[in-house]
Amino acid sequence: MSNSVRVRFAPSPTGPLHIGGVRTALYNYLFAKKHNGTFVIRIEDTDQTRFVPGAQDYIMKSLEWAGIMPTEGPGIGGEYGPYIQSERKEMYMPYAEQLIANDKAYYAFDTAEELDTMRENAKNSGMPNWQYNSITRTSMVNSLTLPKEEVQKRLDNGDPYVIRMKMPRNQDVRFEDIIRGWVVVNTNNLDDKVLFKSDGMPTYHLANIIDDHTMKISHVIRGEEWLPSAPLHVLLYQAFGWEAPQFAHLPLLLKPDGNGKLSKRDGDRLGFPVFPLNWLTAEGETFPGYKEDGYLPESFINMLAFLGWNPGTTQELFSLDELVESFSLERVSKSGAKFDPDKTKWFQQQHLRQQADSWIAEQVQSDFPGVAIDRLTIVAGLLKERITFLHELKAEADYFFEAPTYFDEKTLSKKWKDNSNALMTDWLGELEKITSFTPESVDASFKAFIQAKELGIGAVMPLFRLLITGKGMGPGIFDIAAFLGKEEVIARMKSGLQKFA
Ligand code: GLU
Repeated sequence: MSNSVRVRFAPSPTGPLHIGGVRTALYNYLFAKKHNGTFVIRIEDTDQTRFVPGAQDYIMKSLEWAGIMPTEGPGIGGEYGPYIQSERKEMYMPYAEQLIANDKAYYAFDTAEELDTMRENAKNSGMPNWQYNSITRTSMVNSLTLPKEEVQKRLDNGDPYVIRMKMPRNQDVRFEDIIRGWVVVNTNNLDDKVLFKSDGMPTYHLANIIDDHTMKISHVIRGEEWLPSAPLHVLLYQAFGWEAPQFAHLPLLLKPDGNGKLSKRDGDRLGFPVFPLNWLTAEGETFPGYKEDGYLPESFINMLAFLGWNPGTTQELFSLDELVESFSLERVSKSGAKFDPDKTKWFQQQHLRQQADSWIAEQVQSDFPGVAIDRLTIVAGLLKERITFLHELKAEADYFFEAPTYFDEKTLSKKWKDNSNALMTDWLGELEKITSFTPESVDASFKAFIQAKELGIGAVMPLFRLLITGKGMGPGIFDIAAFLGKEEVIARMKSGLQKFA
């Protein structure tokens, strides 16, 4: 399969890219990389009424942030451009005319009012779902019912028309979906879809298959919502005499309770983003994004990969390269994938832990003005397992840079006894004796101290921690002590002892 694999992500710029869309892009990216293929992005903007300014830019920025940029597309380049359908406008009509010439499509002149009347009449006679199809088309105004000269006259006149698919009667359309297996649909259930609109633009269906063909797309990997369109697409490939690409329809992304599709309002309701980046609507409403909420792209991608796919092993943490290595469409499930906000946070925690201490320090440096990067690197290493997001480090790290002013009430009432002051004064005496103040030397001195006192760790260490950090819990206390340095530790001990005298 290598080298011939060409896949595409084909979003319509009708709004911000939902995480389901990013997952589609991700699976395309992974599949392309896995097979040394090419990942293309094509903007499908044939429906001008739904065009949203800024959406295309948002889509590109989202893919860039996620680290899954295509290698062909608008603003990127490639041999098969342009990659925006409105810029390919002139290309489509000759193909539509070819279909008409081959009796696979026809002109339809019915006005919107005539179609409404048809639907209304059908409804009144008990048929609520009227369709323009192989039966009803015989009583409509089109190039199949009008005399040839009349059709030509109307075209010459510039009368508005659409071009419709001439859906064959009672024919089984079959294709093998990589994820779903064989799909068979009888054409009696399909209508004569509009292929070309009266505004001079092709519809999604026509443009999509012409572009997939001319861009040499080998695999169409897209959301399940496009499965009902696939039989029409297969028929179009046949009508043109082209080989169809292979199809893989991805499972839906469901709400956390499994009840229905994940929608943009679920994020608000349940407190998690459903968009990769913040999106500001024309009305001034902001929808939060993963990036701005503090997720790392690594976590976001890892979480998305697992919404519908699994590696078949117990491994859950994957870098993008590892995902490329492990990914296969055969391991994508048919059934909907439930979004899990807790798991999403878990992925974030895990990936944050995997970052180098120095990298974390660099990211948060502006939160710690005046702190040297190597000092911050130590703090990052000590605290990274205790936070979920980088922006939480600042609050968590307060006592590394300032003596505590607040002392944890619970630890205080539970651990601070009548003899604690005397005990800690003795410990202070030991600390003063340490010459080279390292985690190891403080640790050794502490062990000797509790042994001499015949006390357990639990009776002494929490008091020490409380005095120098104000907290009941935290990373290794000897690391903290060494970071603060002998002078600071002693000062904090003294001031605490005065407080709790
Ligand atoms: N333009 C369609 C969309 O917005 C693309 C569907 C497809 O990939 O064929 O999702």
